Amino acid sequence: MSKKVRVRFAPSPTGPLHIGGLRTALFNYLFAKQNKGDFILRIEDTDQNRYVEGAEAYIIDALNWCGIFFDEGPGKESGYGPYRQSERQLIYRKYADQLIENGKAYYAFDSAESLDSHRKDHEQKGKTFIYNWHNRLKLDNSLSLSPEELEIRLAREENYVIRFYTPQDEVLHLTDIIRGNIQIDTNTLDDKVLFKSDGMPTYHLANIVDDHLMEISHVIRGEEWLPSLALHHQLYDAFGWQAPEFAHLPLIMKPEGKGKLSKRDGEKGGFPVFPLSWGDSVGYKEAGYFPEAVVNFLALLGWNPGTEQEFFKLEELIEIFNLERVHKSGARFDPEKTKWYNHHYLQEQQDSILINAFRPILLKKVAKEKAFDKSLLNNNDYIASVISLIKERASFVSEFWELGNYFFQTPGTYNEKVVKKQWKENTPSLLTKIANLLETLDGFSSSVIEEEVKKWIEDEQLTFGQVMAPLRLVMVGDLKGPHLFDIMALVGRAESVKRIRLALDKL
Ligand code: GLU
Repeated sequence: MSKKVRVRFAPSPTGPLHIGGLRTALFNYLFAKQNKGDFILRIEDTDQNRYVEGAEAYIIDALNWCGIFFDEGPGKESGYGPYRQSERQLIYRKYADQLIENGKAYYAFDSAESLDSHRKDHEQKGKTFIYNWHNRLKLDNSLSLSPEELEIRLAREENYVIRFYTPQDEVLHLTDIIRGNIQIDTNTLDDKVLFKSDGMPTYHLANIVDDHLMEISHVIRGEEWLPSLALHHQLYDAFGWQAPEFAHLPLIMKPEGKGKLSKRDGEKGGFPVFPLSWGDSVGYKEAGYFPEAVVNFLALLGWNPGTEQEFFKLEELIEIFNLERVHKSGARFDPEKTKWYNHHYLQEQQDSILINAFRPILLKKVAKEKAFDKSLLNNNDYIASVISLIKERASFVSEFWELGNYFFQTPGTYNEKVVKKQWKENTPSLLTKIANLLETLDGFSSSVIEEEVKKWIEDEQLTFGQVMAPLRLVMVGDLKGPHLFDIMALVGRAESVKRIRLALDKL
């Protein structure tokens, strides 16, 4: 590759970033880093009506949370800025003028009302109104006006827009890295507005001018922009600039497979569609996902490594990602799979991170649960040991309490069904003997308890079920949990014995 790789993520700050947008950012980032290039964040805020306060900060926070750090962008100038289009407003006009001078664009004075009535007229006849070669000479623009009339109307400062002059009867040959060659008949295109009457460029003009000035080498963006490719391609030609390479990423589809994934789907299915919370919508972060899990599942939405491998960290993705393996067809979103990824990254997480995430839950429980042994709260080693015993069953830290509450408090109740089935006439006498045995053990590690209890069961000629089920019931309050002797070793000898005696009293 001769030219330095420079790619950009160019969101419009019209609301929170959808995970589709986040995936676009991720793929741009991976491509840039793999090619030792630059990843640029450009805020496309030329549409003042759609501007939403806080959206830009949200986008930056979301990228940072995922570890997708930009090299250039708002607050990180590098000679190509500013990076907000609203701050570049004065740049664009001269490019629009240049196109007018070259005959590639023209002034159009049609009012919104008159365009609307044309549209309605067409609809009534079952047609679609397209502003282009077949009617532009009948409309109110500099092509249909005489030079004198035009001059007068410009001098009167009448409202106008600047439209691109799409040539007639041409076939455009476009290429897309993912989609290959694409042919477009220019007769199907409309003369898009490049510059608006409010003095602002439209997305199309600003986008092309900025990509050129910022020396963008590859435009990697969502499939929804594919219809704009023909115009963008023509704009590069009209300016006489070399166009970047283009790659249009497949849409992210609903879990059912048909249609684009929307905020509604998330609400219906109870899964996040935004990386961070926004208003009432809970984000992946707040729902307890690790950024590694989000990056991993996003990477595989529309791309595959060509192997069976499913777990990828950001660093590895930078090594092996390639645009050629991005699919053309939409990528079905699978909310269950996101949980599976989170389960995986939860197992890998450092103790300190898990403890910090679990602590607020424990603090809430301390305030509510009378039996909670407060002395355990500051015992990080203890909490880490609890986590290491239960995490295999968890996909989220929020499940830890349900899975391990009995490590922090003596069970006060027992699962009745289990009691009915497992609490036999001889159970109290067996458990009393076990309690006595525990008190005399030399050491209280899991393996010591296991060895001695098993030996005792054999000596007494009992079955394991006769002892183990009630013993678990009194330790946990139920028949669930990890290896029983691990539980007993961790809560300790005194607490284990206490739990047996308490149950003997209660049951
Ligand atoms: N501002 C456009 C968006 O919101 C950018 C499209 C592009 O990358 O060209 O997605």
